[in-house]
Amino acid sequence: MIEDLLQHNKTWAAERVASDPDYFRRLSGLQAPQYLWIGCSDSRVPANVITGLEPGEVFVHRNVANLLHPSDLNGLSVLQFAVEVLRVSHIIVCGHYGCGGVAAAVDGQRHGLIDHWLRPIKDLHERFEADLATLPDARARLARLCELNVEQTVMRVVQTPVVQDAWRSGRLLSVHGWVYGLDDGVIRDLGCTIASNHDARRFRRQPVGE
Ligand SMILES: [Zn+2]
Repeated sequence: MIEDLLQHNKTWAAERVASDPDYFRRLSGLQAPQYLWIGCSDSRVPANVITGLEPGEVFVHRNVANLLHPSDLNGLSVLQFAVEVLRVSHIIVCGHYGCGGVAAAVDGQRHGLIDHWLRPIKDLHERFEADLATLPDARARLARLCELNVEQTVMRVVQTPVVQDAWRSGRLLSVHGWVYGLDDGVIRDLGCTIASNHDARRFRRQPVGE
């Protein structure tokens, strides 16, 4: 029932105040998160819950399949605000295995407008087709595509003027690629952390034969 949500909220707020009378006063006075999270909208991957972070500790942007299009005004505005105003030190791109958005991009069906949103994953799939074909089954191929998609979003974040300007001004800012497992609740670090253009050049992944 929808009314239950409001009732749960009242209980939650009262419990917070009971254990820390200044909790909301402090939180409402200052937002200073260290992290920007770019994740999938999937209801099973809530940033705060799976990382153990409290309200105020992570600035969150989520969309279907954790993408960043070069002309995505929403995503780019979040990125700029997080980097230039909140001055986060870490940007985390977190995808997840079994992502319905990633699967929909390559299932050969038509899904409407979302197909346009998912186009970068379709392109990625075509580009890495030979690599993916070496994997044993469809589940493994989807898992790998979820990882490649995170890496691609990491590269897209890095290439934005927002991140480039931050580095040019000497800011310490790292972009991380993670994948969450729906099966076990564990986050894997893909080891593609980029903290400079030197890292980005070293990391750039190429398909076999390219
Ligand atoms: Zn997803």
